[in-house]
Parts: sequence; structure tokens; C-alpha cells
Amino acid sequence: MPANVIRRRRGLMLVLSSPSGAGKTTLTRLLTRDDADVELSVSWTTRPPRPGEIDGVHYVFVSKDAFRAHRAADGFLEWAEVHDNLYGSPREPILDALDKGRDVLFDIDWQGAQQLTNSAQADVVKVFILPPSMIELRRRLDERAADHRAVIKKRMSNAYSEISRWDGYDYVLVNDELDNCYGQLKSIVAAERLRRQRQPWLPNFVQRLLQEDT
Ligand code: ADP
Ligand code: 5GP
Repeated sequence: MPANVIRRRRGLMLVLSSPSGAGKTTLTRLLTRDDADVELSVSWTTRPPRPGEIDGVHYVFVSKDAFRAHRAADGFLEWAEVHDNLYGSPREPILDALDKGRDVLFDIDWQGAQQLTNSAQADVVKVFILPPSMIELRRRLDERAADHRAVIKKRMSNAYSEISRWDGYDYVLVNDELDNCYGQLKSIVAAERLRRQRQPWLPNFVQRLLQEDT
């Protein structure tokens, strides 16, 4: 009976990138809250925690020396320097989650997205989030009030070069109305999970279907 085939799919690596303030963290929190199959890759960073950020939950906050030692031991799947700080995706917890058939969500920049594509193209789905306007991006950074003025200024000036990377992504969403953008993101995840190559059980299933008598 085809129904006996175990329908376990291959986990995907979902990358969200955007200029700072466009809404990655907000979308990430919604998706990990609502979807039990999605696990967040908690990056290591050398930047100081913002108010409310918890070590081990939002980031693993480390010194530059600790980061470099982990990097030298090949402990990151990808890493990059962003806004003068080091950021990296730790290899071990990600591979563990994928082994368990879970999807892993990455809130990383374009450099990290490119490195993941180079090492695991078939498993990577890349989504770029655009702000509706640069004025709104600035307003969101100000409203978040999590960074010093000089830091916000630097993030705004970096936003222009980050946005210019939009065409290296599989999907591009404009985060105007949050509910709408979140709905679009969930549709992408649902469709990508159904891709034929992510259903390793299908060949067996079809083979058995074709052997069935009616
Ligand atoms: P990022 O992780 O890309 O830096 P955040 O998710 O921290 O961005 O969002 C920056 C700020 O903008 C936060 O205060 C967040 O609540 C707000 N925000 C996110 N999406 C929207 C939206 N669609 N409309 C209005 N404000 C938003
Ligand atoms: P923030 O300091 O606002 O949390 O993040 C700054 C930028 O660094 C964002 O574009 C974010 O996506 C990126 N980033 C966070 N973690 C990583 C990581 O592990 N690798 C890479 N390449 N970028 C990261």
C-alpha cells in the first residue's frame, strides 16, 4: 500500500536578509512562534546586546577572541563582518536541526547568504525583505530606539549597498503592511516544502502506486 511509505521531507535552510530595520527580526519571531517545524539559527556576534536581548536566545554574545577561535576551529557554516562587528552561524546546532528534518531560519546578511548557497545550494531558500521607502526605514530604526544615533546613521548609509544585493535572492518581499508580508513569507515556506526534491519518499511512493491493482 502506498500509504505505508514514510513521508519525511528534507529540511530547508531559509535565509532572510534585508537592510537593518526592514523587519527581519520581527518576521523571524512570528515564524518561529507559529511554525513548530522552524528552528532559528542563533548566530554568534561580537556586538553588544541591545536592551531586552538575551544571550543564547537572540544571539550568542562573545568577545572577538572567542569568535576568532571558533572560526579557526571551523565552527561556523558562514560568517561575515557587518557594521564593524563579526557575525557567524554556528555549524553544529544547524546540522543537528537539519538531521532531525527541521527547517532552519537564518537572519543573516547577503555575504552569509552567498556562503550558504555555495556550500548547500539545494537546501537554501533566500528571501530578501525591502522597506516600503527609505524614510520609513529610517523611521523604524529611530522607533526601535535600540541603537545609538551614530550606529543608526551607519546602518542607514549601509542600507543602500545592502539593498543593491536584492537580485541575488529567490524571493523579494516589500514589508509595508506586516500581516501581508508575513502571509507572503508563510506561502513561500509552504510551497518550498512541497518541492519535489524535498520529498525523498516520492519515488518509492510512485513506484508502489504504479504496482497497485485496482
Ligand atoms: P531588522 O531585524 O530587519 O533590523 P526589525 O524586525 O527589528 O528589523 O524591525 C525594525 C522596527 O520596525 C521594529 O521596531 C519593528 O517593530 C518595526 N517593524 C517591522 N515591520 C514593520 C512593519 N511592517 N510596519 C511597521 N513597523 C514595522
Ligand atoms: P543586527 O546587529 O541588527 O542584529 O544585525 C546586523 C546584520 O547582521 C543584519 O543584516 C543581520 O542579518 C546580520 N547577521 C546577523 N547574524 C549573522 C550571521 O550569523 N551571519 C551573517 N553573515 N550575518 C548576520
